[in-house]
Amino acid sequence: MPKKGTPEACSNPLIEMKSQDQPQDSGTSPSYPFPEGFLWGAATSSHQVEGDNRFNDWWESEHEGRVPHRSGATCRHYELFREDFDLARSWGHNAHRFSIEWSRVQPAPNRFDNEALRHYVEVVNVLNDRGMEPVVTLHHFTNPSWFARRGGWLSSDAPRVFDNYVERVVQTVGNRARFWLTINEPTVYVRQGYIAGQWPPFKSRGWRQAYAALHNLARAHRLSYRTIHQVIPAPLVSFAHNAPVIEPCRATAWADRSAAAVRDFVLNRLFFRLIGPGCLDFVGINYYTRMVVRSQGNVTNLLLGSVCRAHGHRGQGPFSKIGWESYPQGLFEILQRFGRSGLPLLVTENGIATDDEQVRTRFIEQHLKVISQAIESGTNVIGYLYWTLMDSFEWTDGMEAPFGLAAVDSKTQKRTPRPCVEELKRLFTSGRTEPQAQRFMRSASGSNG
Ligand SMILES: [Zn+2]
Repeated sequence: MPKKGTPEACSNPLIEMKSQDQPQDSGTSPSYPFPEGFLWGAATSSHQVEGDNRFNDWWESEHEGRVPHRSGATCRHYELFREDFDLARSWGHNAHRFSIEWSRVQPAPNRFDNEALRHYVEVVNVLNDRGMEPVVTLHHFTNPSWFARRGGWLSSDAPRVFDNYVERVVQTVGNRARFWLTINEPTVYVRQGYIAGQWPPFKSRGWRQAYAALHNLARAHRLSYRTIHQVIPAPLVSFAHNAPVIEPCRATAWADRSAAAVRDFVLNRLFFRLIGPGCLDFVGINYYTRMVVRSQGNVTNLLLGSVCRAHGHRGQGPFSKIGWESYPQGLFEILQRFGRSGLPLLVTENGIATDDEQVRTRFIEQHLKVISQAIESGTNVIGYLYWTLMDSFEWTDGMEAPFGLAAVDSKTQKRTPRPCVEELKRLFTSGRTEPQAQRFMRSASGSNG
């Protein structure tokens, strides 16, 4: 049986804000030591790639004009998943993260769609047939329209309703998948939907509601953690935690340091506190960027800081097409910090939106190098999933944030692999066996933690 987490399991990642140790930057090396059995692949989410997800709150908002873009057919992955997985397999991937679309599986409160459930069983079977470890996400930003209308994540029975859906999914997909992610990036979902007001349900500065939603998401995680363990003998369950590195703009200014610490508590610790101990088998880490914050302006921005857009911060990297700084050394800090929980870490997302393929390839190389350094320093990292398999519907950025390993022609649905695919394949297949391999095998089979 997998270890269901020690009492400290959920709270340990919260102990230290920042590592003292820094990776050595000695230029890009051609190959890195990765343990045998390391998981390599890409991640996607249902609404972003499947197409025609008509029964969720995003689709509804797109067609009411409340968000700037429509997902439409996007990558038509609901039909083309076999071909897409063939492609990923040909690139050397041995794992793939995808999400189950709740609104397809449960299009009405009292109705489960068996055809949709069979579809996801087939998705998992196709991955397993190709030797790719399925990593299943149960909630990735979208809600069924009926769930949103009855109050969404503010409704007191939302966790129970979600758990009911989870139970149906795990009863169907069952032992075909070991890795389960309950909720994708709860803090991002709540920030965008209840504070920034940019995503459904479009609440602006609704701090109390944001807290209530986060609290219910944490309850939902706890309930589904238990349900998955009741239905499947040895699952590995986590949520996907968006883990930014947060630093003060002026290192000598108490107000900036304080703002960075408060923001770090809200974004990197609070959800772990809310889910409590004993409900993680590993930690899913989504890492993209660093936030440099400056305390200024209104009360909220004094307390939490506002993101400083000025250039010239220590170690600043290039910025992506959507304005995110590339900051690979931050991933080392994050891995060390969350690794102190004693739980294995799986990088469930990391990627860059860019039109410059040299920038993308360098981004990937730098982050993989940092991961190999973290592994060598004793952190138990068991896999790396690039965001994302192919260009897809990036929420309020629409199709204008090219994160993909492949470009997609929206008219012909042709996938065109980008140059980094070959570089990644070379790195994936040159992974050497290291002592860490044994630790990985122990933790992946659940006897470590
Ligand atoms: Zn600054």
